[in-house]
Amino acid sequence: MDRNIEAHDQISTILDRQRTARIAAGEPDAAERRARIQQVIDLLVDRADDLAKALDVDFGGRPEGYSLMNDVVGSITALKYSRDHLETWMAPDERPVFAPYDQLGATARVLHQPKGTVGIIGTWNAPVYTLMSPLAGVFAAGNRAVLKPSELVPRTAEVLADAVSAAFDPEVLAIVTGGPDVADALTSLPFDHLVFTGSSAVGKLVMANAATNLVPVTLELGGKSPTIIGAGADLADAAHRIAVGKATNGGQICVSPDTVHVPADRLDDFVDELRAAYTALHPTVEDNPDVVAIVDDRHAARVDGYVADAARLGARIETAPDVAVPQSTRRRPLRMVIDPPAEAVIRREEVFGPALVLLGYDDIDEVIDAINAGPNPLALYYFGTDPAEQAAVVDRTLSGGVTVGDVMMHPGLQDAPFGGVGSSGMGHYNGREGFLQFSHARSVFRSAGPDLRGEWGMLPPYTEQFRAMMAAQVTR
Ligand code: NAD
Repeated sequence: MDRNIEAHDQISTILDRQRTARIAAGEPDAAERRARIQQVIDLLVDRADDLAKALDVDFGGRPEGYSLMNDVVGSITALKYSRDHLETWMAPDERPVFAPYDQLGATARVLHQPKGTVGIIGTWNAPVYTLMSPLAGVFAAGNRAVLKPSELVPRTAEVLADAVSAAFDPEVLAIVTGGPDVADALTSLPFDHLVFTGSSAVGKLVMANAATNLVPVTLELGGKSPTIIGAGADLADAAHRIAVGKATNGGQICVSPDTVHVPADRLDDFVDELRAAYTALHPTVEDNPDVVAIVDDRHAARVDGYVADAARLGARIETAPDVAVPQSTRRRPLRMVIDPPAEAVIRREEVFGPALVLLGYDDIDEVIDAINAGPNPLALYYFGTDPAEQAAVVDRTLSGGVTVGDVMMHPGLQDAPFGGVGSSGMGHYNGREGFLQFSHARSVFRSAGPDLRGEWGMLPPYTEQFRAMMAAQVTR
């Protein structure tokens, strides 16, 4: 891709201005940080309805109540949590000093200092949340920021750009809009940290750009989040919870259940339960305003293509509710893709839409092995009543996070890290971990008293006594 020189120069100027202002002003105190966070909360409250309306139009159907819950209230909750706790997080952290300087009165502490300017790139699926929830930690840690919303939701990006530009001096918070060329320009600049939420493929490009300036990155990526129906699981309860999770945002959520592993002898019963549970939430599709549409034609064709490919390879497809795929809208029923063969595209690619893979299994070890053979998932879900099996699933796999007995709950924890591992990402934010992620942990040693090393025989010319003293410390 040709680099967008204009965007590069524009963002470079913002970065320089933020850096100059930061050096002149010094580190913001707790009151200043709280005020900045409050400004973000205020702009979200003021523009909540505009954002929800823009999201509805951008998606071609997204209930305003859902957008208020997910994007606006979700962001505000994270911002308030940081606002109300940042002063505690900022407190210097006293550390023990090594002997004999501890006896001489030396002290040590770890300061958490702002890194500088953080660039934050968001996705289309949760366009406000993927910018504003990392911003809570970025501002709590005393940084400045530049936001880049997704180009796939242009009206939402415009409302955000308008609101941020009206509320903030760009020396504190700036926003740039545009597509991959703008994001490429942004990530090629010497920010002090980058937060990228998006696909693993683009995450690699971001990391490659960041590497040219040694910019640290937080990568919030995706992947296939497995769900396991284990021994003793209540099928109706699990189906209900999975249906609720899968229906959320039309399955366009990074932690949406993607592949469900079901004991082979219970697979048909589970399909019936899931069909019933999903149909109870969405009895109709085409004209149902509660069904979130697929964001654009390309993504609709992508999801439809996964299902068609699996069907062609012999997978059974069940639809909930049992209706034909609408042609006039991008709203879709849930397609359950049952036991597709390993070569089906849907077995490899993250679904990120209203379709779900169901795989029958005979032995839980097969499932654990299959999960371990693939990339580390962002989320993993387990339903079942056998504590030993549950422990085996959690202990012998690795994922960004886990919810047991439900789906998509752990990312809602305000004071627990949210992030991936391996190909589902690196770094994390939320609550205290967000503050730590965007702070530089700076160790400070303060000397006290006279320098006694000469009197202790520790300085050149080295003597045999010094050698013996060191030899005595070579211990187990
Ligand atoms: P995407 O990777 O296509 O785009 C994300 C952002 O990257 C957009 O703002 C886009 O403009 C920008 N971008 C595009 N090309 C770029 C480049 N060359 N360099 C830098 N930035 C570039 O992702 P998407 O389709 O918007 O979102 C879907 C993906 O995001 C899914 O994989 C999903 O799992 C993941 N996701 C993860 C989380 C999380 O918190 N882990 C949250 C939401 C979505």
